[in-house]
Amino acid sequence: MAANGLSGPVMVQESAQVVDLTSSDPPTERVYEPAGATVATTAKADDSSDDGLDDASLYEEILEEGPNMEFSTDSADTCPPEESRSLRNRLHEVGANQFVLENITTGKYSARKLCSAFGVKIPKFMTDFVDEAFYQLLGLAISRELNKRRRLEQYKTIDDAAQLLRERKNIMVITGAGISTSLGIPDFRSKNTGFYSKLLEMGFEDPEQVFDIHNFDEDPKVFYTLAGDILPDLKKWTPTHEFIRLLQDKDKLLTNYTQNIDNVESHAGIRRDKLIQCHGSWATATCRKCKYRIPGEDIFGDIRNHTPAECKNCLKEIALQGDRPGMKRKRSSNGNGSRKRRKSDESDSDDDGQYDIPQPGIMKPDITFFGEALPQDFFDRLRETDKEKVDLVIVIGTSMKVAPVSEIPNFVPGDVPQIYISRDPIHHINFDINLLGDSDTIVAELARRAGWDLKHSMIPENQKIDVFPIDEYEHRYGVKVQGRLDPKPEAPGHTA
Ligand SMILES: [Zn+2]
Repeated sequence: MAANGLSGPVMVQESAQVVDLTSSDPPTERVYEPAGATVATTAKADDSSDDGLDDASLYEEILEEGPNMEFSTDSADTCPPEESRSLRNRLHEVGANQFVLENITTGKYSARKLCSAFGVKIPKFMTDFVDEAFYQLLGLAISRELNKRRRLEQYKTIDDAAQLLRERKNIMVITGAGISTSLGIPDFRSKNTGFYSKLLEMGFEDPEQVFDIHNFDEDPKVFYTLAGDILPDLKKWTPTHEFIRLLQDKDKLLTNYTQNIDNVESHAGIRRDKLIQCHGSWATATCRKCKYRIPGEDIFGDIRNHTPAECKNCLKEIALQGDRPGMKRKRSSNGNGSRKRRKSDESDSDDDGQYDIPQPGIMKPDITFFGEALPQDFFDRLRETDKEKVDLVIVIGTSMKVAPVSEIPNFVPGDVPQIYISRDPIHHINFDINLLGDSDTIVAELARRAGWDLKHSMIPENQKIDVFPIDEYEHRYGVKVQGRLDPKPEAPGHTA
Protein backbone atom coordinates (compact mmCIF):
# COMPACT_ATOMS: atom_id res chain seq x y z
CA MET A 1 0.00 0.00 0.00
CA ALA A 2 1.82 3.04 -1.21
CA ALA A 3 1.02 6.23 0.61
CA ASN A 4 1.29 9.37 -1.45
CA GLY A 5 3.85 11.92 -0.42
CA LEU A 6 1.77 14.92 0.47
CA SER A 7 2.47 18.39 1.66
CA GLY A 8 2.11 17.93 5.38
CA PRO A 9 1.60 14.75 7.31
CA VAL A 10 -1.92 13.94 6.10
CA MET A 11 -1.23 10.54 4.59
CA VAL A 12 -3.71 9.34 2.05
CA GLN A 13 -3.76 5.82 0.73
CA GLU A 14 -5.33 6.12 -2.69
CA SER A 15 -6.31 2.49 -2.76
CA ALA A 16 -6.90 1.69 0.88
CA GLN A 17 -9.34 -1.12 0.30
CA VAL A 18 -9.90 -2.91 3.53
CA VAL A 19 -10.46 -6.28 1.93
CA ASP A 20 -9.31 -6.59 -1.64
CA LEU A 21 -11.83 -8.80 -3.44
CA THR A 22 -9.77 -8.68 -6.61
CA SER A 23 -6.74 -10.17 -4.91
CA SER A 24 -5.68 -13.63 -5.94
CA ASP A 25 -4.49 -14.42 -2.43
CA PRO A 26 -6.01 -17.59 -1.13
CA PRO A 27 -9.30 -16.51 0.43
CA THR A 28 -8.79 -19.01 3.22
CA GLU A 29 -6.51 -16.44 4.82
CA ARG A 30 -9.43 -14.13 5.27
CA VAL A 31 -11.49 -15.01 8.24
CA TYR A 32 -14.83 -13.80 9.45
CA GLU A 33 -14.36 -11.16 12.09
CA PRO A 34 -16.74 -9.46 14.46
CA ALA A 35 -18.31 -6.24 13.28
CA GLY A 36 -16.61 -3.27 14.85
CA ALA A 37 -13.32 -5.10 15.11
CA THR A 38 -10.80 -3.92 12.62
CA VAL A 39 -11.34 -5.76 9.39
CA ALA A 40 -7.98 -4.77 7.95
CA THR A 41 -6.71 -8.32 7.85
CA THR A 42 -3.37 -7.37 6.37
CA ALA A 43 -2.71 -5.05 9.29
CA LYS A 44 -3.78 -7.71 11.76
CA ALA A 45 -1.33 -10.27 10.52
CA ASP A 46 1.67 -8.48 11.94
CA ASP A 47 0.20 -6.21 14.55
CA SER A 48 2.52 -7.28 17.34
CA SER A 49 5.62 -5.91 15.68
CA ASP A 50 4.58 -2.36 14.92
CA ASP A 51 3.16 0.14 17.36
CA GLY A 52 1.80 2.28 14.55
CA LEU A 53 -0.66 -0.41 13.55
CA ASP A 54 -2.41 -0.19 16.87
CA ASP A 55 -3.22 3.35 15.88
CA ALA A 56 -4.44 2.13 12.52
CA SER A 57 -6.94 -0.21 14.13
CA LEU A 58 -7.98 2.53 16.54
CA TYR A 59 -8.66 4.90 13.64
CA GLU A 60 -10.57 2.17 11.81
CA GLU A 61 -12.70 1.77 14.89
CA ILE A 62 -13.41 5.50 14.95
CA LEU A 63 -14.37 5.47 11.25
CA GLU A 64 -16.53 2.38 11.65
CA GLU A 65 -18.14 3.94 14.72
CA GLY A 66 -17.28 0.86 16.73
CA PRO A 67 -19.52 -0.11 19.65
CA ASN A 68 -16.91 0.82 22.26
CA MET A 69 -16.50 4.38 21.01
CA GLU A 70 -18.11 7.34 22.70
CA PHE A 71 -18.44 10.35 20.47
CA SER A 72 -18.47 14.05 21.24
CA THR A 73 -21.82 15.73 20.67
CA ASP A 74 -20.27 19.20 20.45
CA SER A 75 -21.19 20.51 17.01
CA ALA A 76 -19.28 23.80 17.18
CA ASP A 77 -16.50 22.60 14.92
CA THR A 78 -18.42 20.75 12.22
CA CYS A 79 -19.08 21.55 8.57
CA PRO A 80 -22.74 22.13 7.65
CA PRO A 81 -24.19 19.66 5.08
CA GLU A 82 -24.02 21.97 2.05
CA GLU A 83 -20.37 22.84 2.71
CA SER A 84 -19.53 19.17 3.32
CA ARG A 85 -20.98 18.21 -0.05
CA SER A 86 -19.00 20.80 -1.95
CA LEU A 87 -15.82 19.74 -0.12
CA ARG A 88 -16.43 16.10 -1.05
CA ASN A 89 -17.10 17.05 -4.67
CA ARG A 90 -13.93 19.11 -4.72
CA LEU A 91 -11.92 16.15 -3.44
CA HIS A 92 -13.18 13.94 -6.27
CA GLU A 93 -12.47 16.73 -8.77
CA VAL A 94 -8.89 17.54 -7.83
CA GLY A 95 -7.64 14.44 -5.98
CA ALA A 96 -6.10 14.09 -2.54
CA ASN A 97 -2.86 16.06 -3.04
CA GLN A 98 -4.45 19.21 -4.33
CA PHE A 99 -7.33 18.94 -1.85
CA VAL A 100 -4.98 18.80 1.14
CA LEU A 101 -2.90 21.63 -0.30
CA GLU A 102 -5.95 23.86 -0.73
CA ASN A 103 -7.62 23.19 2.56
CA ILE A 104 -5.05 22.14 5.16
CA THR A 105 -1.71 23.53 4.02
CA THR A 106 -3.23 26.98 3.50
CA GLY A 107 -4.83 26.81 6.93
CA LYS A 108 -8.30 27.30 5.47
CA TYR A 109 -9.69 24.47 7.59
CA SER A 110 -8.61 22.66 10.70
CA ALA A 111 -8.15 18.91 10.20
CA ARG A 112 -10.73 18.34 12.93
CA LYS A 113 -13.38 20.36 11.08
CA LEU A 114 -12.52 18.78 7.73
CA CYS A 115 -12.99 15.32 9.27
CA SER A 116 -16.63 16.23 9.85
CA ALA A 117 -17.11 16.95 6.13
CA PHE A 118 -16.39 13.27 5.53
CA GLY A 119 -18.85 12.10 8.15
CA VAL A 120 -16.23 11.31 10.80
CA LYS A 121 -17.46 11.70 14.35
CA ILE A 122 -14.90 12.93 16.86
CA PRO A 123 -14.47 10.48 19.77
CA LYS A 124 -14.76 11.94 23.25
CA PHE A 125 -11.19 11.08 24.20
CA MET A 126 -9.89 13.25 21.33
CA THR A 127 -11.91 16.35 22.21
CA ASP A 128 -8.94 18.29 23.61
CA PHE A 129 -6.29 17.02 21.20
CA VAL A 130 -4.21 19.43 19.10
CA ASP A 131 -5.17 19.64 15.45
CA GLU A 132 -2.17 17.62 14.22
CA ALA A 133 -3.59 14.63 16.07
CA PHE A 134 -6.41 14.53 13.53
CA TYR A 135 -4.18 14.33 10.44
CA GLN A 136 -4.02 10.56 10.27
CA LEU A 137 -7.75 10.23 10.83
CA LEU A 138 -8.39 12.76 8.08
CA GLY A 139 -6.08 10.85 5.74
CA LEU A 140 -8.09 7.68 6.30
CA ALA A 141 -11.37 9.54 5.85
CA ILE A 142 -10.15 10.94 2.52
CA SER A 143 -9.05 7.46 1.38
CA ARG A 144 -12.43 6.06 2.31
CA GLU A 145 -14.23 8.83 0.39
CA LEU A 146 -12.07 8.28 -2.71
CA ASN A 147 -12.82 4.56 -2.65
CA LYS A 148 -16.58 5.04 -2.52
CA ARG A 149 -18.56 4.50 -5.67
CA ARG A 150 -20.06 7.69 -7.14
CA ARG A 151 -23.81 8.02 -7.01
CA LEU A 152 -25.59 7.79 -10.39
CA GLU A 153 -27.65 10.97 -10.63
CA GLN A 154 -30.26 9.59 -13.04
CA TYR A 155 -31.67 7.17 -10.42
CA LYS A 156 -33.33 8.68 -7.41
CA THR A 157 -36.94 7.82 -6.60
CA ILE A 158 -39.05 4.76 -5.82
CA ASP A 159 -40.46 4.94 -9.35
CA ASP A 160 -36.95 4.88 -10.78
CA ALA A 161 -36.42 1.75 -8.66
CA ALA A 162 -39.63 0.15 -9.95
CA GLN A 163 -38.61 0.86 -13.52
CA LEU A 164 -35.19 -0.70 -12.94
CA LEU A 165 -36.93 -3.80 -11.59
CA ARG A 166 -38.93 -4.11 -14.80
CA GLU A 167 -35.96 -3.51 -17.12
CA ARG A 168 -33.07 -5.34 -15.50
CA LYS A 169 -32.42 -9.06 -15.89
CA ASN A 170 -29.48 -9.93 -13.64
CA ILE A 171 -30.31 -8.60 -10.22
CA MET A 172 -27.96 -9.17 -7.29
CA VAL A 173 -29.73 -9.06 -3.93
CA ILE A 174 -27.66 -8.66 -0.75
CA THR A 175 -29.55 -9.35 2.46
CA GLY A 176 -28.99 -9.20 6.22
CA ALA A 177 -30.69 -9.73 9.56
CA GLY A 178 -33.27 -6.98 8.91
CA ILE A 179 -35.21 -9.18 6.49
CA SER A 180 -35.82 -11.91 9.07
CA THR A 181 -36.63 -9.87 12.18
CA SER A 182 -40.34 -9.69 11.27
CA LEU A 183 -40.41 -13.49 11.76
CA GLY A 184 -39.15 -13.04 15.30
CA ILE A 185 -35.69 -14.37 14.42
CA PRO A 186 -33.48 -12.08 16.48
CA ASP A 187 -30.37 -10.59 15.05
CA PHE A 188 -27.88 -12.32 17.31
CA ARG A 189 -25.84 -9.11 17.51
CA SER A 190 -28.77 -7.05 18.69
CA LYS A 191 -28.71 -6.20 22.37
CA ASN A 192 -32.44 -6.44 23.15
CA THR A 193 -32.88 -10.17 22.89
CA GLY A 194 -33.31 -13.04 25.31
CA PHE A 195 -30.27 -14.55 23.68
CA TYR A 196 -28.21 -11.54 24.68
CA SER A 197 -29.37 -11.41 28.30
CA LYS A 198 -28.76 -15.15 28.78
CA LEU A 199 -25.30 -14.62 27.44
CA LEU A 200 -24.59 -11.95 30.04
CA GLU A 201 -25.79 -14.33 32.76
CA MET A 202 -23.25 -16.89 31.57
CA GLY A 203 -20.45 -14.34 31.89
CA PHE A 204 -20.03 -13.32 28.27
CA GLU A 205 -19.95 -9.72 27.20
CA ASP A 206 -20.53 -10.12 23.53
CA PRO A 207 -22.75 -12.38 21.38
CA GLU A 208 -19.82 -12.82 19.07
CA GLN A 209 -17.91 -14.80 21.70
CA VAL A 210 -20.47 -17.59 21.36
CA PHE A 211 -19.76 -17.74 17.64
CA ASP A 212 -16.00 -17.85 18.06
CA ILE A 213 -14.50 -21.05 16.71
CA HIS A 214 -11.79 -21.18 19.37
CA ASN A 215 -14.36 -20.87 22.13
CA PHE A 216 -16.47 -23.57 20.48
CA ASP A 217 -13.55 -25.99 20.40
CA GLU A 218 -12.63 -25.12 23.96
CA ASP A 219 -16.12 -25.74 25.30
CA PRO A 220 -18.96 -26.56 22.87
CA LYS A 221 -21.43 -26.67 25.77
CA VAL A 222 -21.71 -22.87 25.76
CA PHE A 223 -22.90 -22.74 22.16
CA TYR A 224 -25.21 -25.72 22.67
CA THR A 225 -26.72 -24.08 25.74
CA LEU A 226 -27.45 -20.76 24.05
CA ALA A 227 -28.16 -21.63 20.43
CA GLY A 228 -31.65 -22.99 21.07
CA ASP A 229 -32.91 -19.42 21.14
CA ILE A 230 -31.75 -18.68 17.63
CA LEU A 231 -32.72 -21.92 15.94
CA PRO A 232 -34.63 -21.04 12.79
CA ASP A 233 -38.33 -21.67 12.39
CA LEU A 234 -38.52 -23.73 9.26
CA LYS A 235 -42.02 -22.99 8.08
CA LYS A 236 -42.27 -19.23 7.71
CA TRP A 237 -40.73 -16.55 5.55
CA THR A 238 -41.33 -12.85 5.06
CA PRO A 239 -42.72 -10.77 2.18
CA THR A 240 -39.11 -9.76 1.54
CA HIS A 241 -38.08 -13.40 1.01
CA GLU A 242 -41.15 -13.78 -1.19
CA PHE A 243 -40.04 -10.74 -3.21
CA ILE A 244 -36.63 -12.32 -3.85
CA ARG A 245 -38.41 -15.53 -4.84
CA LEU A 246 -40.55 -13.45 -7.25
CA LEU A 247 -37.38 -12.07 -8.87
CA GLN A 248 -36.26 -15.67 -9.33
CA ASP A 249 -39.63 -16.69 -10.82
CA LYS A 250 -39.36 -13.80 -13.28
CA ASP A 251 -35.89 -15.03 -14.22
CA LYS A 252 -34.30 -11.81 -12.98
CA LEU A 253 -32.44 -13.06 -9.91
CA LEU A 254 -28.72 -13.36 -10.55
CA THR A 255 -27.72 -14.23 -6.96
CA ASN A 256 -28.99 -13.67 -3.46
CA TYR A 257 -25.98 -13.09 -1.21
CA THR A 258 -27.35 -13.51 2.28
CA GLN A 259 -25.51 -12.84 5.53
CA ASN A 260 -28.28 -14.62 7.40
CA ILE A 261 -27.67 -18.08 8.75
CA ASP A 262 -31.35 -18.92 9.29
CA ASN A 263 -31.66 -20.69 5.90
CA VAL A 264 -35.12 -19.14 5.50
CA GLU A 265 -34.27 -18.37 1.85
CA SER A 266 -34.24 -22.08 1.02
CA HIS A 267 -37.63 -22.61 2.62
CA ALA A 268 -39.01 -19.66 0.65
CA GLY A 269 -38.04 -21.55 -2.50
CA ILE A 270 -34.91 -19.67 -3.49
CA ARG A 271 -32.86 -22.22 -5.40
CA ARG A 272 -29.45 -23.47 -4.26
CA ASP A 273 -27.87 -22.21 -7.49
CA LYS A 274 -29.23 -18.69 -6.83
CA LEU A 275 -28.15 -18.51 -3.20
CA ILE A 276 -24.82 -17.77 -1.56
CA GLN A 277 -24.98 -18.05 2.22
CA CYS A 278 -22.02 -15.82 2.95
CA HIS A 279 -21.80 -16.84 6.60
CA GLY A 280 -22.93 -20.43 6.12
CA SER A 281 -26.20 -21.74 7.51
CA TRP A 282 -27.96 -24.24 9.74
CA ALA A 283 -28.71 -26.42 6.71
CA THR A 284 -25.87 -28.83 7.46
CA ALA A 285 -23.54 -29.68 10.36
CA THR A 286 -19.99 -31.02 10.26
CA CYS A 287 -17.82 -32.95 12.71
CA ARG A 288 -14.94 -30.83 14.02
CA LYS A 289 -12.66 -33.88 13.91
CA CYS A 290 -13.39 -36.10 10.90
CA LYS A 291 -15.44 -33.57 8.85
CA TYR A 292 -18.38 -36.00 8.59
CA ARG A 293 -21.38 -33.98 7.39
CA ILE A 294 -25.07 -34.45 8.25
CA PRO A 295 -28.31 -32.48 7.74
CA GLY A 296 -28.41 -29.57 10.22
CA GLU A 297 -31.81 -30.59 11.53
CA ASP A 298 -30.29 -33.79 12.92
CA ILE A 299 -28.64 -31.82 15.73
CA PHE A 300 -31.55 -29.47 16.50
CA GLY A 301 -32.76 -31.88 19.20
CA ASP A 302 -29.34 -31.83 20.88
CA ILE A 303 -29.29 -28.03 20.72
CA ARG A 304 -32.73 -27.84 22.32
CA ASN A 305 -31.48 -30.27 25.02
CA HIS A 306 -28.29 -28.21 25.50
CA THR A 307 -26.17 -31.31 24.84
CA PRO A 308 -23.20 -31.13 22.48
CA ALA A 309 -23.83 -33.61 19.65
CA GLU A 310 -21.10 -36.21 19.27
CA CYS A 311 -20.14 -37.38 15.80
CA LYS A 312 -21.69 -40.74 14.94
CA ASN A 313 -18.92 -41.46 12.46
CA CYS A 314 -16.21 -40.86 15.07
CA LEU A 315 -18.09 -43.03 17.58
CA LYS A 316 -18.23 -45.84 15.04
CA GLU A 317 -14.49 -45.55 14.35
CA ILE A 318 -13.69 -45.59 18.05
CA ALA A 319 -15.86 -48.67 18.58
CA LEU A 320 -14.05 -50.44 15.74
CA GLN A 321 -10.63 -49.53 17.15
CA GLY A 322 -11.67 -50.76 20.58
CA ASP A 323 -12.50 -54.16 19.10
CA ARG A 324 -9.19 -54.44 17.33
CA PRO A 325 -6.58 -56.65 19.07
CA GLY A 326 -3.71 -54.72 20.59
CA MET A 327 -5.71 -51.51 20.93
CA LYS A 328 -6.56 -50.99 24.55
CA ARG A 329 -8.86 -48.32 25.80
CA LYS A 330 -7.42 -47.05 29.05
CA ARG A 331 -10.53 -45.49 30.44
CA SER A 332 -13.86 -44.52 29.18
CA SER A 333 -14.49 -41.17 30.78
CA ASN A 334 -16.52 -38.92 28.63
CA GLY A 335 -16.12 -35.89 30.83
CA ASN A 336 -16.03 -32.45 29.43
CA GLY A 337 -12.51 -31.75 30.63
CA SER A 338 -10.85 -34.43 28.54
CA ARG A 339 -12.40 -33.02 25.43
CA LYS A 340 -10.80 -29.63 25.80
CA ARG A 341 -8.56 -28.67 22.97
CA ARG A 342 -5.17 -27.30 23.76
CA LYS A 343 -4.63 -25.90 20.34
CA SER A 344 -7.04 -23.52 18.72
CA ASP A 345 -6.08 -24.76 15.30
CA GLU A 346 -8.06 -27.83 14.37
CA SER A 347 -6.50 -30.65 12.42
CA ASP A 348 -7.93 -33.97 11.40
CA SER A 349 -5.45 -36.56 12.37
CA ASP A 350 -2.82 -35.64 14.90
CA ASP A 351 -5.23 -34.66 17.64
CA ASP A 352 -5.76 -38.11 19.04
CA GLY A 353 -2.17 -38.49 20.15
CA GLN A 354 -2.66 -35.86 22.82
CA TYR A 355 -5.23 -37.90 24.67
CA ASP A 356 -5.25 -41.21 26.43
CA ILE A 357 -8.50 -42.24 24.87
CA PRO A 358 -9.98 -41.36 21.54
CA GLN A 359 -12.85 -38.91 21.77
CA PRO A 360 -15.51 -38.36 19.15
CA GLY A 361 -15.60 -34.98 17.45
CA ILE A 362 -18.40 -32.54 18.19
CA MET A 363 -20.87 -31.59 15.46
CA LYS A 364 -20.90 -27.90 14.57
CA PRO A 365 -23.62 -26.36 12.42
CA ASP A 366 -22.07 -25.02 9.20
CA ILE A 367 -22.63 -21.42 10.12
CA THR A 368 -19.37 -19.53 9.72
CA PHE A 369 -17.94 -18.77 13.12
CA PHE A 370 -15.61 -15.86 13.77
CA GLY A 371 -12.13 -17.10 13.10
CA GLU A 372 -13.25 -19.41 10.26
CA ALA A 373 -12.79 -18.83 6.55
CA LEU A 374 -15.78 -17.71 4.52
CA PRO A 375 -17.25 -20.30 2.18
CA GLN A 376 -15.19 -20.45 -1.00
CA ASP A 377 -18.26 -20.22 -3.26
CA PHE A 378 -18.73 -16.62 -2.13
CA PHE A 379 -15.47 -15.46 -3.69
CA ASP A 380 -15.68 -17.71 -6.75
CA ARG A 381 -19.18 -16.66 -7.66
CA LEU A 382 -18.60 -12.96 -7.13
CA ARG A 383 -15.35 -12.71 -9.05
CA GLU A 384 -15.87 -15.24 -11.77
CA THR A 385 -19.45 -14.69 -12.88
CA ASP A 386 -21.50 -12.11 -11.03
CA LYS A 387 -19.17 -9.14 -11.40
CA GLU A 388 -19.53 -9.32 -15.18
CA LYS A 389 -23.22 -10.16 -15.32
CA VAL A 390 -24.85 -7.99 -12.66
CA ASP A 391 -27.04 -5.13 -13.96
CA LEU A 392 -28.76 -4.07 -10.72
CA VAL A 393 -27.85 -4.38 -7.02
CA ILE A 394 -30.48 -4.33 -4.27
CA VAL A 395 -29.26 -4.31 -0.66
CA ILE A 396 -31.94 -5.12 1.93
CA GLY A 397 -31.97 -5.16 5.74
CA THR A 398 -28.26 -4.88 6.43
CA SER A 399 -26.11 -2.01 7.66
CA MET A 400 -23.20 -3.42 5.61
CA LYS A 401 -20.61 -3.29 8.35
CA VAL A 402 -19.18 -6.80 8.08
CA ALA A 403 -16.49 -7.44 5.48
CA PRO A 404 -16.18 -8.82 2.88
CA VAL A 405 -19.91 -8.50 2.07
CA SER A 406 -19.65 -4.79 2.83
CA GLU A 407 -17.12 -4.48 0.00
CA ILE A 408 -19.43 -5.78 -2.74
CA PRO A 409 -21.05 -2.41 -3.67
CA ASN A 410 -17.65 -0.87 -4.38
CA PHE A 411 -16.51 -4.01 -6.22
CA VAL A 412 -19.19 -4.20 -8.91
CA PRO A 413 -18.81 -1.91 -11.97
CA GLY A 414 -19.59 1.75 -11.20
CA ASP A 415 -22.35 2.09 -13.83
CA VAL A 416 -24.52 -0.62 -12.25
CA PRO A 417 -27.34 1.07 -10.31
CA GLN A 418 -27.71 0.18 -6.62
CA ILE A 419 -30.78 0.39 -4.40
CA TYR A 420 -30.70 0.38 -0.59
CA ILE A 421 -33.69 -0.75 1.47
CA SER A 422 -33.46 -0.62 5.27
CA ARG A 423 -34.78 1.13 8.37
CA ASP A 424 -31.85 3.47 8.77
CA PRO A 425 -29.61 5.19 6.24
CA ILE A 426 -25.93 4.32 6.07
CA HIS A 427 -23.23 6.79 5.23
CA HIS A 428 -20.18 4.74 4.30
CA ILE A 429 -21.56 3.52 0.95
CA ASN A 430 -23.20 5.67 -1.74
CA PHE A 431 -26.36 4.04 -3.08
CA ASP A 432 -28.32 5.57 -5.94
CA ILE A 433 -31.74 5.08 -4.40
CA ASN A 434 -32.29 4.81 -0.63
CA LEU A 435 -35.73 3.61 0.49
CA LEU A 436 -35.98 3.77 4.26
CA GLY A 437 -38.53 1.95 6.38
CA ASP A 438 -39.80 -1.57 6.94
CA SER A 439 -38.42 -3.80 4.18
CA ASP A 440 -41.59 -5.91 3.89
CA THR A 441 -43.60 -2.72 3.26
CA ILE A 442 -41.09 -1.32 0.79
CA VAL A 443 -40.76 -4.42 -1.39
CA ALA A 444 -44.56 -4.76 -1.51
CA GLU A 445 -44.85 -1.17 -2.73
CA LEU A 446 -41.99 -1.61 -5.20
CA ALA A 447 -43.63 -4.69 -6.66
CA ARG A 448 -46.97 -2.87 -6.92
CA ARG A 449 -45.34 0.03 -8.77
CA ALA A 450 -43.57 -2.43 -11.07
CA GLY A 451 -46.97 -3.91 -11.90
CA TRP A 452 -46.18 -7.23 -10.22
CA ASP A 453 -48.34 -9.40 -8.06
CA LEU A 454 -46.54 -10.03 -4.77
CA LYS A 455 -48.75 -12.14 -2.54
CA HIS A 456 -48.02 -12.92 1.10
CA SER A 457 -50.18 -13.32 4.19
CA MET A 458 -48.23 -10.55 5.95
CA ILE A 459 -49.08 -7.99 3.24
CA PRO A 460 -52.53 -6.55 3.98
CA GLU A 461 -54.90 -6.13 1.01
CA ASN A 462 -55.09 -2.57 -0.34
CA GLN A 463 -52.59 -1.11 2.10
CA LYS A 464 -51.95 2.59 1.46
CA ILE A 465 -48.35 3.68 1.41
CA ASP A 466 -46.76 7.10 1.94
CA VAL A 467 -43.49 7.86 0.20
CA PHE A 468 -41.84 11.07 1.35
CA PRO A 469 -38.45 12.71 0.76
CA ILE A 470 -35.96 12.64 3.64
CA ASP A 471 -32.92 14.06 1.86
CA GLU A 472 -33.33 14.53 -1.88
CA TYR A 473 -29.70 15.45 -2.43
CA GLU A 474 -28.65 12.10 -0.94
CA HIS A 475 -31.50 10.31 -2.79
CA ARG A 476 -33.18 9.25 0.48
CA TYR A 477 -36.90 8.57 0.77
CA GLY A 478 -39.03 7.27 3.60
CA VAL A 479 -41.67 4.62 2.87
CA LYS A 480 -44.39 3.71 5.37
CA VAL A 481 -47.91 2.45 5.71
CA GLN A 482 -50.35 5.36 6.00
CA GLY A 483 -51.32 6.09 9.58
CA ARG A 484 -48.63 3.89 11.04
CA LEU A 485 -46.19 5.57 13.38
CA ASP A 486 -42.57 5.82 12.39
CA PRO A 487 -40.78 2.61 13.18
CA LYS A 488 -38.55 2.73 16.18
CA PRO A 489 -34.93 3.31 15.32
CA GLU A 490 -32.84 0.19 15.58
CA ALA A 491 -30.95 -0.39 18.78
CA PRO A 492 -27.33 0.65 18.86
CA GLY A 493 -25.12 -2.29 18.19
CA HIS A 494 -27.42 -3.61 15.49
CA THR A 495 -25.14 -4.40 12.64
CA ALA A 496 -25.68 -7.10 10.07
ZN1 LIG B 1 -16.33 -37.25 13.37
